This record gives sequence, structure tokens and C-alpha cells, in this order.
Amino acid sequence: MSLARTWSVGLVGLSGGVVEVEVDLSAGLPGMAIVGLADTSVRESRDRVRAAVLNSGLDWPNRKITIGLSPATLPKHGSGYDLSLAVGLLAASDQVPCGAAEKFLFLGELGLDGRVRAIRGVLPAVIAAVKEGHQHVVVAQENGAEAQLVGDADVWVADTLADVVGFLCGDREGQRPVRVDAPAPPETPDLIDVVGQSAGRLALEIAAAGGHHLLLTGPPGAGKTMLAERLPGILPPLTDEEALQVTAVHSLAGELPRGSPLIRRAPFESPHHTATMPALVGGGSPLARPGAISRAHRGVLFLDEAPEFGRGVLDSLRQPLEKGVVSLHRAAGVSTYPCRCQLILAANPCPCAPATGDADCGCTSLARRRYADRLSGPLLDRVDLHVGLPAVSRRALLDSSDPREGSAQVGVRVAEARAAAAARLSQWGRRLNSEVPGVVLRESLRLPRQALTSAEMALDRGLLSVRGFDRVLRVAWTLADLAGAARPGSAEIDAAVGLRLRRIG
Ligand SMILES: [Zn+2]
Repeated sequence: MSLARTWSVGLVGLSGGVVEVEVDLSAGLPGMAIVGLADTSVRESRDRVRAAVLNSGLDWPNRKITIGLSPATLPKHGSGYDLSLAVGLLAASDQVPCGAAEKFLFLGELGLDGRVRAIRGVLPAVIAAVKEGHQHVVVAQENGAEAQLVGDADVWVADTLADVVGFLCGDREGQRPVRVDAPAPPETPDLIDVVGQSAGRLALEIAAAGGHHLLLTGPPGAGKTMLAERLPGILPPLTDEEALQVTAVHSLAGELPRGSPLIRRAPFESPHHTATMPALVGGGSPLARPGAISRAHRGVLFLDEAPEFGRGVLDSLRQPLEKGVVSLHRAAGVSTYPCRCQLILAANPCPCAPATGDADCGCTSLARRRYADRLSGPLLDRVDLHVGLPAVSRRALLDSSDPREGSAQVGVRVAEARAAAAARLSQWGRRLNSEVPGVVLRESLRLPRQALTSAEMALDRGLLSVRGFDRVLRVAWTLADLAGAARPGSAEIDAAVGLRLRRIG
């Protein structure tokens, strides 16, 4: 037979489609052509596939080889097609039964020596394959555990191209993914380590319960980073669906641990303040990769020294934060990634940021104002909680007797408050107070006038924008959920107004 076909997957962002790989051998000048919107990285496969076939002791057909990848409309990129191209070619030249080649879908890069190498994005690729009815997949040994996360997939793994050929010809037994006992995940930092900072701890608990964004201001050493790092530890573990989605994003970023790849805990991303816009929201070519904001999906995006980030970089976060997804347009296609994360911004009170606190600082109030203003109003307007942290006094540091709660205790209250919110909001298809549309807040969840006095005063005096007013209501509902109350009263509204307007510096 001189025509064979097999299958692979093309990914654009997190969504993908099955790609049919057709290989035709014909009389003519020996050579190999790949057609069907394959970019240069796929055309480079030619040399790898040839070397892998020859170095595996197989024959390279000395004929005109035409490889068609369809649908032609789906952009194809990367080295993940190597294995399917090789198998298709071997089937077309009668070295592998065509029926067997056609039954499986192949995802893997080939080394020149014929090894099958792991690729990025196996999880979303297998999800796409199963969705289109291709359950039987062959992947690299290292990608096995990841592919197997997809419930309905029938996963086979291979170390070398020769293994795959032996398996398809029935000469060798197929291999199933090996369960590797992964090292225990690193301990998440515990709130018990945080000394003092009762306001900061409370703000963190509110942020966790309602999914609110948070701004922490305070001198270096006050514990801003310490607090931020402890937010994932008090968030509930990811649901099955969330875990799969978060793992798929990290699979594309190529940073999953081998063996037990499923991410169960809310991720934490803290890009440096020199990060570029593509690093933060996603970018690259020919198809854009997920940025820090998407790797923080269902978790925490922490921007330390936030005023030091480029203005444009910070502003680029606004729309994705609002929408929960980011779409990156490239000539080759539009990649869409989820980015429903909680933002924590940390800022020093002034550019010189003395470790000693305010006393010895020579910065004028104007310099401080300017520094604070580097965080743009529209971005801050989306941050529900603004909390000033004082410097930790030496006495508090030395006094270890003050009773402190650990993450587990706080996590229980967070989970209860989230459950209360989810029960109330399910009729609007929401789970967190931070996600409730303004119109629902102001109409269906309308509060009695007398409870709103302080918020309305702040609105009248121009201290709150209309958007800010809605955010006060959202935080007040979270405070009520944490207190086990049916609805917020004036105490919760007052506290929420305070949490939004309090700023240091
Ligand atoms: Zn200063």
C-alpha cells in the first residue's frame, strides 16, 4: 500500500482538533513534502523523522513522499507530529500494518536516535482527541501519567520508535503508563508563621472567602510577601474540573511534575517587576503561550513591588481580570486561555522604602504620592481590599506567646463562607461574591437603605466610584458569610468601606 493515514492533534491555545495525517508514496524524485498549514517547526520534522527511522533500523522509502495534514485550516506547530509522521510513513511503506496505524493517535517528538520524547500540552491534546472519538493514544513514556488524567483515554506509552513499530506489528507487548511515586509536593507556607499583622491576616481571610483582589501597602519587612504566599494555603483544593483545567494550562507551559501531574492546589505565580507584557498576559509566536496570569488561573497572581511594574504592563491586566479569559491574536490563530485568578498587589510606601519604617525616610509626601500613583486608578478600582501593614515591632517578633491561628483553622472558615456564598449565588450561576454582577447586587440582593449609609456617604463625597460602591457591597457580603449572617448589616458595610479606603503612604 502506498497510501496510509494516522492521527495527531493540533492545539490552538487550550482547544485543539484532531489532525488527520495522510502519507502518500509515489514514483518521482525522492523527497518529502508536507502540505496543510504546517509551519517551519513542523517542516523541520522531516530531518528528525528520517534520522529516527534510519537509526531505528527501519527502511526509508526512496520515493516521492507527500504528507497531508488536515483540516488545512487548523494551524499546526511544533515537534509533536514527529511520531505520527513516522508511523504514517512506515505504514505507507508496508513496515507497519495500515489498520494498526489508523487505529491510534500519536503525540510525541522523535530524537535523531529514534527515542520518543515528551511534548508540551499532552493533556489538552488528549482531551481534544477523546472529545472527537479518538480514545487510543500513544505518547512518550514521560507524558503517560499526564495523558491518563483524561478518564476515557486508552493510553499507551513508548520509549522508542522501534517500540511503537513492534507494538503496532504485534511483535511486542504494548506498555502502559508507569505510576511514578512523585516526591511529596512542597509544603505550602502556613499562616502560623506570620507574626502580628492582624489586619493583614483578616484581609487575607476575606480575600480567600470572597475571591477578592487585595492591595497590601507597608514598609519592607512588614510581611507582605509572607502573607501573599499563604493565600493558596487557605483556599479550598481545586475541584476535579478546575484541577484538569489548571493542569492543562501548566501542561502547555511545560512545567508539570512527572508521575503525579495533576495540580490540586491553587497555583501561586509571582512574576518579577521587570516582567514584560507577554510574560504576564501571554505571548510569543507563531501561537501565543499562556502568561503568568493564566498560570495563576484558579489561584493567586502576586505582584510584589507593584508600582515598579511598567504602567502598560499593569494596565494590560485590567481586561483579562475582568473577563476571566485572555485572547491572544497572532497571524497563525487566536489562542484563548482562562485567567480567573486573585490578584495581590504589594507596594512600599515610598520609592526608597527604608527597612526601618517611616522615621528615617527622607521622602517628601509628594514623592510618596507620586510613587503610589504609579498604580493606575482603573486597576486599583478593581481591587476590593486595600490594607496598610505597619512595620512589625521588635516586641511582637520576640513575643511568641501571642496565640496565632494556622492555615488549616482559617481554611475551615473560608470553606464555610464560600459554601454559603455558593448556595446563595447558584441561581445566577456564580460561586464567589467577587463574581456577582453589579445589577444582581443592586437589585436582587438589594440591602435596606439604612445599612448603606456609610457607603452612600462615601459615594456622595467622591471617595468611592460607582464601581467602587459595588465592590464595597461584594466585600460586605463576604463579611456576612464569614460571620454566618444571612445578609450584611451596617457593621459589615462600614467595615467594607474601611477596607476599601484605607491606604498608607
Ligand atoms: Zn522614602
